[in-house]
Amino acid sequence: MHKIIDGKLLAREILEEVSDSVADLASAGWQPKLVAIVIGDSAPVALYVRNQKRTSENAGIEFEERAFSGESTEDEILAAIASMNADPRITGIILQRPVPDHMNMRRLQSAVHPLKDVEGMHPSSIGDIVYNDIRLGPCTAMASVELLKQTGLTLEGLEVTVIGHSEIVGKPIAFLLMAEGATVTVCHHMTRNLAVHSRRSDAVFVAVGKAALISGDMIKPGAAVIDIGINQVTDEDGNTEVVGDADYESCEKVAGWITPVPGGVGPVTVAILMRNSVIAASRQKEHYEARFGTIPMGDTTLRIAKSAMK
Ligand code: NAD
Repeated sequence: MHKIIDGKLLAREILEEVSDSVADLASAGWQPKLVAIVIGDSAPVALYVRNQKRTSENAGIEFEERAFSGESTEDEILAAIASMNADPRITGIILQRPVPDHMNMRRLQSAVHPLKDVEGMHPSSIGDIVYNDIRLGPCTAMASVELLKQTGLTLEGLEVTVIGHSEIVGKPIAFLLMAEGATVTVCHHMTRNLAVHSRRSDAVFVAVGKAALISGDMIKPGAAVIDIGINQVTDEDGNTEVVGDADYESCEKVAGWITPVPGGVGPVTVAILMRNSVIAASRQKEHYEARFGTIPMGDTTLRIAKSAMK
């Protein structure tokens, strides 16, 4: 009998802890505030931002969207990021993906101050993971590993296959799992025989973006399947639905645990963004207090803090 790993339930649990920490920070004068940078018009991005705004506000985190035209130059966005870095009222910066083709995402992400990197995508945050400091990391990757932990499986020595090796999902999942002691195999589009790897694994993560890439016959009986893929498929009658990368029907018959799509990785990803936001705000508080002692956030503090960030 397989068990469904409930992402919505896990997200609620994480968000309860986040709300408590936000209240503590706010009462100490450090109200967390996120700014989402949106460049150009995109329906999926508008949906993500609405979702992030609602979740932030429910957790007591202030949220502001700053929209830029798709015609903006990279320098304009870099200047906007620099001013957000220097503004101590903003404790977290989110760069919505995708950015227009004429911009370099990596350059933009690297411009965000590491203390405000709530997405966990700054090279310094990625570097921390490589050094086994896994408190703050890329949201989807962190969410996926949290879901595996819900199975109660011991991660030390666990045989895991990660399918997909993007910078944002697959690679950080592999590093997070290695930090937890798992034995990790990473597959990608050049892997010769996926099933050889997936079939001998106690857990399979799949983050590719291809519906039904993984079927039940590719899974070891009793293994955990963490499905990160998001694919919109249309049936013969023209009905569309969102599915993952695992063929749910055949995988659920073999797997010990499986995450649904939707309702698995998605809600936990947003919850981790909120948890990262609390960690980032706490680190900024510690950073300033180490320099200036405990002082309430007033105009003078803002001025001092601003000059300190330069
Ligand atoms: P990507 O396109 O950057 O990377 C795809 C990866 O899949 C690459 O590593 C590529 O080598 C690999 N790949 C391609 N074809 C393959 C094949 N036939 N066999 C094995 N590997 C193959 O994608 P991404 O940004 O990592 O996203 C992957 C999926 O996860 C997408 O469906 C995306 O929508 C989804 N996603 C979900 C969330 C979430 O919060 N749930 C967040 C980010 C991405």
